[in-house]
Amino acid sequence: MQAIQEPSFRESVELMFNRAVALMELPPGLEEKIRVCNATYTVRFGVRLRGELKTFTGYRSVHSEHMEPVKGGIRFATGVNQDEVEALAALMTFKCALVETPFGGSKGGLCIDPREYDEHEMEQITRRFAYELIKRDLINPSQNVPAPDMGTGEREMAWMVDQYMRMNTTDINARACVTGKPLNAGGIAGRVEATGRGVQYALQEFFRNIDDVHEAGLDGSLHGKRVVVQGLGNVGYHAAKFLSEEDGCKVTGIIERDGAVVDDTGLDVDALRNWIGRHGGVKGFPDGTYVENGAAVLEHDCDILVPAALEGVIHRGNADQVKAPLIIEAANGPVTAGADEILRNKGTIIIPDMYANAGGVTVSYFEWVKNLSHIRFGRMQRRQEEARHQLIVDELERLSADTGIGWQLTPNFKDKYLKGAGELELVRSGLDDTMRTAYQSMREVWRGRDDVTDLRTAAYLVAIDRVATSYQAKGL
Ligand code: GLU
Repeated sequence: MQAIQEPSFRESVELMFNRAVALMELPPGLEEKIRVCNATYTVRFGVRLRGELKTFTGYRSVHSEHMEPVKGGIRFATGVNQDEVEALAALMTFKCALVETPFGGSKGGLCIDPREYDEHEMEQITRRFAYELIKRDLINPSQNVPAPDMGTGEREMAWMVDQYMRMNTTDINARACVTGKPLNAGGIAGRVEATGRGVQYALQEFFRNIDDVHEAGLDGSLHGKRVVVQGLGNVGYHAAKFLSEEDGCKVTGIIERDGAVVDDTGLDVDALRNWIGRHGGVKGFPDGTYVENGAAVLEHDCDILVPAALEGVIHRGNADQVKAPLIIEAANGPVTAGADEILRNKGTIIIPDMYANAGGVTVSYFEWVKNLSHIRFGRMQRRQEEARHQLIVDELERLSADTGIGWQLTPNFKDKYLKGAGELELVRSGLDDTMRTAYQSMREVWRGRDDVTDLRTAAYLVAIDRVATSYQAKGL
């Protein structure tokens, strides 16, 4: 149960913002300008479904236009409301600033339970919502570029871009009006898993900084670390999969809507996902122990807790019982401001949402650039790079033979070295670089200032400073 007197999500974000801004010296008025949400558009539209006219409510909130286009996902969920969309839009402003994607912050939402409608109905509803937003330039390659979020994915983005193209037949950059599209509709390799991949890269970077690992009371590398993940949606699934398959983590608990499954020896993430796909929940999964009260597993003994579902799941009522020394916020706003304070006081390290889940918008940025340049990444360089590498390999082999040294390059080395980077490799490289650089910018403030004791405040400081600089450069 959520404890009483918990602030709303938007208030929670504002409290965190205020905590950081109190440590800055911004010109009068600018602080308020950055804090407030510029505009929220609410639309109510009707769609005729099953012989009846059904009315839906949707939002698109623009938090800050210090850079345009503004960017942020559109979520389809029953709990969507103005407060939530505004909180999420604010987080997008700071997220984009922190990872240096050249966007302002925005977010959208539609109050709907997508499971109640079939594909054709969802298409009608999505196109109609998109139509309303396009009419007002709230979907537009140079002004506002949505992306997937909870309850939306490639399918919805494909409908939206098609809707935009129908309404803007001569816009040569039309495909850049949304990101997270399927590859055949202008998407980019690696976007689907980008947020989960970003969570993995964030943890890898954290574990490269051994002082930070010690600060969390942990030791060593990611290998063997016990991880509990909440939410096996797109973000949680990919994070859990990569961490277990590539970094040697043990996923000892997975929390879903209908409960949780735990296993101290480590769960098979793919097997559980398939199970959920077939049975609608985790209950009955044979290779783990079912726990009906899923939320209780947030309090399990583990090394890393990955909340990858809804906001506000760690609140004043349960924060004290959370045992994980390290929390990485794969979801947006999973820890309330009150819980943040409790966790900080007991020394829990939190890798904050605006950094931890920025992989999605980072790869969205690459997709947008790809759409504007009308060419796939790597198309010009790949074969040329391979040819140059082949030259070196040939020369080394010739030298080795001519001098009688007899060195042999291993086939594995040759395969890897000779393969030029395609789009997926470049996307991963760009994402990894982004996550490393952003961590260091945050860390510099965290470690370098006595008055900054947590990564979240450090992240806000870096982000707010960049937004402020951008406003000041504009003369605002
Ligand atoms: N919805 C994602 C987020 O919250 C991605 C946004 C985007 O790619 O624009 O960051």
